[in-house]
Amino acid sequence: MGKTIKTWILGVFSAVAATVISSLIISHLNNVDFAQGALIVFSGISSVFLYKIPIFIIIIAIVIFLVFRWLVKRFRHVIEQPAEPEWINYVLRRYKSWMFVWRYEKDYEGKYRVKQITPICECGCQLSHNIFYTQEKCPKCGTSYPQLTNEITDELQRVIEHDIRSGEYKPILEQYNLEECD
Ligand SMILES: [Zn+2]
Repeated sequence: MGKTIKTWILGVFSAVAATVISSLIISHLNNVDFAQGALIVFSGISSVFLYKIPIFIIIIAIVIFLVFRWLVKRFRHVIEQPAEPEWINYVLRRYKSWMFVWRYEKDYEGKYRVKQITPICECGCQLSHNIFYTQEKCPKCGTSYPQLTNEITDELQRVIEHDIRSGEYKPILEQYNLEECD
């Protein structure tokens, strides 16, 4: 085979490939069905053979396709946000003498961390220390609770993490959800 023929075949082949790709992108973007897509591809190929489509349009189509592919790949994690884990509503439990609430915060790696462990009263109000820091007291209903230490909240953080890993949070979550419905 002569060099000219090889170059010609290669040229036609790349043009056809580019048209197929660009037609597929167009049909994908316009959300057309398979039959319509096939028709667009076919008319695209015949246009190349009839030299209706200038080569620079094909090159632009390839560039657009590559940029499109890169964008989808680059921002896939933004488009496909993973669903929140089942335990995300596990934010309330009794631990020793207190009831606690807390929340979760996602770190830069996307991992959840337990944050702001806060003691609350049975009535739902947040507790505050009494003046001598010897007791926790409810400012709303006046109920007193033993003094809370950082050690206790550190312990509770480990307990929460364990509950999530082991699935032990499920009955606790169910219990408080039922109480909320009552
Ligand atoms: Zn209270």
